[in-house]
Amino acid sequence: IEMKKVSKLYKSSKEEIVAIKDIDLSLEYGDDVAIIGPSGSGKTTLLQIMGGLSNPTRGEVRIDGVLINKGSDNKISQFRNKTIGFIFQNIYLQEYFTAKENVMLPMLIAGVSRKKAEEKARDLLEKVGLKNRINHKPSKLSGGEEQRVAIARAIANNPKIIMADEPTAKLDAENTDIILNILKDINKSGVSIIVITHDQKVAKNFHKQFYLDHGVMVDGNF
Ligand code: ADP
Ligand code: MG
Repeated sequence: IEMKKVSKLYKSSKEEIVAIKDIDLSLEYGDDVAIIGPSGSGKTTLLQIMGGLSNPTRGEVRIDGVLINKGSDNKISQFRNKTIGFIFQNIYLQEYFTAKENVMLPMLIAGVSRKKAEEKARDLLEKVGLKNRINHKPSKLSGGEEQRVAIARAIANNPKIIMADEPTAKLDAENTDIILNILKDINKSGVSIIVITHDQKVAKNFHKQFYLDHGVMVDGNF
């Protein structure tokens, strides 16, 4: 991932907010990264631009050399869907679907057969320790279990990169550890992990650390 001089300004009639400013960032495949900063420092804005979910006001983001913020381009959105798995603080599971069906969804969208998607969803849910929750709907799961379903969903299409926005912010210490260990295992299998957090204890689980301070990035590795 290469970010060059990336800035995002939010404008309203009254004011202009510089959410992130002139961010340069270079990450390699296999990296495990924490981006740390207090609330309002621009973390979510940065991650959404890095993953192509929103457009920068200035600057560019490339993954494998591909400019990823041209959202309307079908080829690029396919590339994004194939390359990146997202995990959100608010989890966003489909409430009428079971855990298994939630994990199947991105595979069905990507054209995987129903049978294969079902088998893989079972495997993935087993991998995140939810063997006995496969047919539960989200309302019957704990917050930690829901986030594990979301992780299984994020890795369903074998992404090269996982981007997670405060994935443990709503969890207790025990569930935070479970989620961090799952993310570390995923990273060991070769997938890059980029985690956004305001929590230093979470951040220290990752090898590369960067700090955001009022939208400006400070390298943590020196
Ligand atoms: P963090 O995730 O670190 O809490 P955000 O990226 O969500 O920070 O927000 C950074 C700054 O940009 C904040 O001042 C926030 O109020 C502002 N901001 C975020 N999203 C929007 C938006 N859609 N419109 C206007 N301002 C926004
Ligand atoms: Mg945020």
